[in-house]
Amino acid sequence: MAELSGLQIFKYLPAAKKSEVSNCKKCGCPTCMAYALKLAKKQADVDVCPYIPDTLRSLLEYSNKEPQKTVKINDLVIGGENVLFRHEKTFINKTAIAVVIDTLQPNWREILKQVEDFEIVRVNETMKVDLVIFSGPDMKNCCSTLNYMSFDDFCNLPIEIILDEGFEKTAEYLIESRQKAVLDRDENYSKPVCVMMNGRDNLQEVCAKVSYYICKYANMVVLRDFDEALVSTLMTLRQNIFTDPQKPLQVESKIYEFNNPDENSLVFLTTNFALTFFAVTNELESLKQSSYLIVTPADGMSVLTAWSAEKFTANMVVNTLKKYEFSSKMKNRDIIIPGLLEHMKDELQAEINNAGLNFNIVIGTIEAFEIQDFVKRYIASKN
Ligand code: SF4
Repeated sequence: MAELSGLQIFKYLPAAKKSEVSNCKKCGCPTCMAYALKLAKKQADVDVCPYIPDTLRSLLEYSNKEPQKTVKINDLVIGGENVLFRHEKTFINKTAIAVVIDTLQPNWREILKQVEDFEIVRVNETMKVDLVIFSGPDMKNCCSTLNYMSFDDFCNLPIEIILDEGFEKTAEYLIESRQKAVLDRDENYSKPVCVMMNGRDNLQEVCAKVSYYICKYANMVVLRDFDEALVSTLMTLRQNIFTDPQKPLQVESKIYEFNNPDENSLVFLTTNFALTFFAVTNELESLKQSSYLIVTPADGMSVLTAWSAEKFTANMVVNTLKKYEFSSKMKNRDIIIPGLLEHMKDELQAEINNAGLNFNIVIGTIEAFEIQDFVKRYIASKN
């Protein structure tokens, strides 16, 4: 049984049974439903309602048991997962990517340096190898700027280490153990699971297998060989899987500058949804022209979602322009907005005119990759 939802809890409370004590407020909540929702989120104490039946009490006790233990390895944390699917709530700790360095290899220091120097930056996150595991006879000269430990210490961690003896076997075990942990609260499966790759597969096989293990449900994978392209691919996938669906990736709302802009530079506008921001940023960085990118606050929503949720309004655009006193800084009076917002051009233009900001709204592209061609056409039209 997974965690109880508010509705499942409510079924056991007096209001659901139409009892005379329904919604008595003794728990501090205005209704039994409000209390049920708080209990589901673990924001209320089970003892504050005097009418909770024993059945519900034991169900809550059972469902509140931690399905998977959390293990700390210096500043690396793995495990602690409590759902099977990210959309149920969120995944907690990313699948750690560890690399074994065998000190019997003559070039192990060179490999270690490659591992230490490796990093990728994607959607504002800097990612490096999570753990270096040294294997070999002489450990006293082994240290790293990354998290590191000896193979013996690694084997003594309170985690379950399985050797990848074949895709089907490993995948089946990973799924079974997560299901037993989350659905049955089976303590025999409560340790984080680490898959040790076998070192015999080629790069493509490792990539395909580990990609699957990251999705379902390895808490750590240990690679026998280090390859930058492989680790970059795995980290990119991992970042997507472990994004919290309740917290859209967002960037700071402000005016960004590209290629030393001045008063005549191009001006683009979008919302603070991180994926849109980085797609547009890539294009603006590679333009020959300098530009500004005005990023409006939208709780990390993409432009159309933000517009439909009233998180992207003409008033917000005007407020952002005023906040940064952008009007007084510019001779260029055109602001290029995303093509997806064409329908709000008139409304936006009217709000800007009313505010006395003297900017013209220009409809830009729907896709970021079209920006380069758009700019060529736009500049030609101005000459
Ligand atoms: Fe409902 Fe119990 Fe709260 Fe009263 S104390 S409102 S019965 S949940």
